[in-house]
Amino acid sequence: MARVCRHCDVVIADPDDAVHMWREESMSGPGRDVWAHREHVDLVEPDTVVTRILARVLVAKALHPTETGGGLPHEVRERYPDCVGDADQGVQQGR
Ligand SMILES: [Zn+2]
Repeated sequence: MARVCRHCDVVIADPDDAVHMWREESMSGPGRDVWAHREHVDLVEPDTVVTRILARVLVAKALHPTETGGGLPHEVRERYPDCVGDADQGVQQGR
């Protein structure tokens, strides 16, 4: 299976240039690995952190609607302070 860079959507030809970012879960399949060019890892990261947080929050809301209803930002900051900090930093830097 081709490794496609998450940042630029180009197939990564050189295995040494492919950095494994994370494994993306899928509702209807085994999931898939997400890759990026070595020089694009920093460009991908802020986006992916937010995406992963949102995915977890959506799951949490589905499982515990009364606990998380309406409190999305606090929920995120309490549970994933490190991730949120990185995400905020990325946004401020405009990356
Ligand atoms: Zn790339």
